[in-house]
Amino acid sequence: MLAYTYVDKNKFALAERPVPHTEHPRDAIVKITLASICTSDLHIKHGSVPRARKGIIVGHEAVGVVTEVGERVHNVGIGDRVAINVETFCGECFFCRRGYVNNCTDEHGGWALGCRIDGVQAEYVRVPYADCGLNKIPDGVSDESALFTGDLLSTGYWAADITEISRDDTVLIIGAGPTGICTLQCVLLRSPARVIVCELDERRRKFVSENYPDVLVCAPQEAEAFVKARGDHGGADRVIEVAGSQESFTLAWKCARPNAIITIVAMYDVAQSLPLPDMYGKNLTFKTGGVDGCHCDDILALIAERKLDTRNLITHTFPLKEIDKAYELFENKRNGVIKIAVKP
Ligand SMILES: [Zn+2]
Ligand SMILES: [Zn+2]
Repeated sequence: MLAYTYVDKNKFALAERPVPHTEHPRDAIVKITLASICTSDLHIKHGSVPRARKGIIVGHEAVGVVTEVGERVHNVGIGDRVAINVETFCGECFFCRRGYVNNCTDEHGGWALGCRIDGVQAEYVRVPYADCGLNKIPDGVSDESALFTGDLLSTGYWAADITEISRDDTVLIIGAGPTGICTLQCVLLRSPARVIVCELDERRRKFVSENYPDVLVCAPQEAEAFVKARGDHGGADRVIEVAGSQESFTLAWKCARPNAIITIVAMYDVAQSLPLPDMYGKNLTFKTGGVDGCHCDDILALIAERKLDTRNLITHTFPLKEIDKAYELFENKRNGVIKIAVKP
């Protein structure tokens, strides 16, 4: 089969690989029908994910059809259309049983697909712990609609969930890239009084204004004054930081009102510092972590009800054999690209 592989730093290449088969009773094999390219794939390409193994097939977000199941797989069967989870988790350890699947202590747990084991930018993939890592796509939901279930939407759903949003809140989301938009959609499901999106890029600000007319939009340089003028209590009640820069981190706590909750979704290239003397008396609560992607069935149900719809994020589609071109476009952010879908 055709597969896209991590050869070396700054080098991904198409290669011919054998079709995988189940190796463990909890494995399933999925024939990929649509995959995506994620910024994390670029992090691997640029050598900034030390645990990524050279030689593996990359990609960790996809949908497909189950073609093979191990004898201990019960939730999915051959022929089922499924969304694939970015995370591998056992479902049985201390953390998994409490929903903290990102902290699964199984030796194979964590971000494995397309990082430590073969991923989804290929014709087929082997999914370990398939009962946990695969979710059936409801009838009437297209591949395009379900594509971001296992990574981007899981992240947005998790972020909105742990941020403890109520209907009286002013929620500030910093960053309107694909993860920011998925977070925004999940926040809107909770109907807070006000949602403000802060974004550096003018085209992305325009995208938010056009697609989500009830959402207020501002640029980082005006954000502090903008948010303080609009929040009911001198700032945002809830802040979700998705952008991942030094400036956006600082903005997150500066825009927060006293006793606010700040959720950090972003990945930073360098350590951030908390200037505690400047925050003294503000009583802020910070929440951090990686996505706990264990609500995929809820997400798929919301997609089926048209309450979540991320099809507008797919700006380009490429066949797998032209994936080099797709990466080039995605990496250089050309032609207004937001997300690229790849069809084997
Ligand atoms: Zn990703
Ligand atoms: Zn576990």
